[in-house]
Amino acid sequence: MASIFSKIASGEIPSYCCAADDEFYAFLDINPLVKGHTLVIPRREVDYLFDLSDDELARLQVFAAHVARAIRQVIPCVKVGQAVLGLEVPHAHIHLIPLQSERDMLFSNPKLQLPADEMQRIADDIRAAFRP
Ligand code: AMP
Repeated sequence: MASIFSKIASGEIPSYCCAADDEFYAFLDINPLVKGHTLVIPRREVDYLFDLSDDELARLQVFAAHVARAIRQVIPCVKVGQAVLGLEVPHAHIHLIPLQSERDMLFSNPKLQLPADEMQRIADDIRAAFRP
């Protein structure tokens, strides 16, 4: 059975799309640590990020960097941080998190619940700023 993230990448499950190409997909985390918290995934379904081939991992990282640059143009932040957990969803993904301070990266922090129109606006702005 397809993972929830495969269904998101195929459009079967809705998401706030931030960037996409044939191989990778980026979308807003539904329970963000901060505004602009984005997930980047390969469309290919692999559970563990570091099981991707070297080439695929390299391409994913470059795609994620392009997404991070777009996020930084849209969300006021010092830098965009990157994290890998994968403890909840068994489909490889990179978290991109706009940081004002180290505390913004704490996954034990309470998650934000943003209105749908704000999530849509953030995703639209990131997509408009995204340059492959
Ligand atoms: P982890 O697997 O520990 O890296 O965490 C998975 C992340 O995916 C969490 O931050 C969730 O909030 C996020 N997440 C789970 N389901 C969805 C979804 N349908 N849309 C967007 N983000 C999701």
